[in-house]
Amino acid sequence: MTDRPISSDIPPGDELVAYRSKAGQPAIVPARQRDRGIGPFKRLVLRGATVIDGTGAPPIGPTDIVIENNRITLLKKVTGNLATAANRPAQGDHEIDCRGKWVTPGFIDCHAHAGVAYHAANGWVPPVDYVYKLWLAHGVTTVREMGSMNGLGWMLDQKKRSAENSIAAPRLLAYAYFPAVNDMLKVLHTPDEGRSWLRRLKERGADGVKFFGAPPAIMEAALDECRKLGLRSGCHHAQMSVTRMNALTTARWGLTSAEHYYGLPESLFEDRVVQNFPLDYDYNDEYFRFSVSGQMFKQGAKPGSAKWNEVLERFLEIGFTFVPTFTIYDANRDLMRARQADWHKEYTWKSMWDYFTPQRGGHGSYWYRWSTQNEIEWKENYRLWMAFINEYKNRGGRVCAGSDSGFIYQIFGFGYIRELELLQEAGFHPLEVIRSATSQGAALCGVQDELGTLEAGKLADLLVHDHNPLTDFKLLYGTGAMRLNEATNRVEWHRGLKCTIKDGVIFDTAELLADVRELVKETWAEDVPARFRQQQEAAQ
Ligand SMILES: [Zn+2]
Repeated sequence: MTDRPISSDIPPGDELVAYRSKAGQPAIVPARQRDRGIGPFKRLVLRGATVIDGTGAPPIGPTDIVIENNRITLLKKVTGNLATAANRPAQGDHEIDCRGKWVTPGFIDCHAHAGVAYHAANGWVPPVDYVYKLWLAHGVTTVREMGSMNGLGWMLDQKKRSAENSIAAPRLLAYAYFPAVNDMLKVLHTPDEGRSWLRRLKERGADGVKFFGAPPAIMEAALDECRKLGLRSGCHHAQMSVTRMNALTTARWGLTSAEHYYGLPESLFEDRVVQNFPLDYDYNDEYFRFSVSGQMFKQGAKPGSAKWNEVLERFLEIGFTFVPTFTIYDANRDLMRARQADWHKEYTWKSMWDYFTPQRGGHGSYWYRWSTQNEIEWKENYRLWMAFINEYKNRGGRVCAGSDSGFIYQIFGFGYIRELELLQEAGFHPLEVIRSATSQGAALCGVQDELGTLEAGKLADLLVHDHNPLTDFKLLYGTGAMRLNEATNRVEWHRGLKCTIKDGVIFDTAELLADVRELVKETWAEDVPARFRQQQEAAQ
């Protein structure tokens, strides 16, 4: 893809969708009405819950939680001799009996996409309702939408509807794609153009910017302008830009967070600047791109070495954040595991499945000759990557949970829970995992005064769990965790997340999952149902 003149009447943040729609890519069907969830209530009381507050503090119970409209107004310990009936919070107009249940803050997905229009290459793209319902069914109540690839205008409309609770969706933070790289779309050519674009972006109401890199002078100016405007930023340090600026360079210039792993191994290089590319490499051949990516960390400084420590120290001084999204490359170290996940059968939309299947032209569909060697290299790559991320957390650095689902056999919602498992694998205590998924995410997004912990005064985003999520994150999957019932000697699937409360609206996760299964089933029918065609046409 090369520069293509983009008419100046395209508002900032809508360039990529304008470009792709010219090429025939259909729009993702937006959500228009809320068909699930009850509330908010004047007074909602959760009785007798064991609370995991999101700060890293241990569980404590029993506690009564009072929510008025969309705000938590009281958390009251209801044990001991002062916990008389008279001393407990007054009756609500709706109550949830939380005895024997656990309550956590809602989860924040710090790297996600509200649908992926690329799936149109393989048929009907899921309407965003599919995505939202999977997110809510897995406890995601806030999403940092990285790139607004459906267009910033589209995103801001959905954000507004979610804020009004007129659709069933997490709250949405809109980060717009910064159009300054040759291999995607470049309409910004000078630092001044970048600055003025950002000012117009801020006026439109964006929360932040998603970078894939840029020429260094433009990137440095853009990050300076972001700081002035109060726009937050995340960067996927794509290989086409990373030799000129790694994650440490952009962190120094004011970048808020590094996404995925890109740019981190390069900041650990001590005997090279350019990674050891095969000589017949082509970035556009994704088999190359992702197979040599699995050789990155071993080219950098060794764990515990002077350089390793120095790089950790630099990031810590800056107060930088990592959003590793371990989950999105999970298939690289075990393709069969990702392809055969328990949920595909009932929850994976057909065009997504077809898109994931190896094919030329599809992003993340690069299994042309994926091998034992590729998987071994990626396992080693993860070992080093996870060691860095875990040590960064141990030394006080911020690490957040993000999923990036919609590619590489990762399904919305399920991919987020897999990320929690992988953070634990990296060495995080499950309480640290929950902290990354809640309060740390809120701090990254700058919404820590409103979200991320269970405290009176905060917005009412909470999860009610039937099982203690700390004991096994698999309980959070929409398909649940496999358990043997000793009495019957049969397998049962235990699903822990009972309801997701967003802004005081209670969503029954079983209903959301049933809706998704119903939608998915139709996509696998012989003929694509006419109503999807209609939906798609109505959205044009
Ligand atoms: Zn992404």
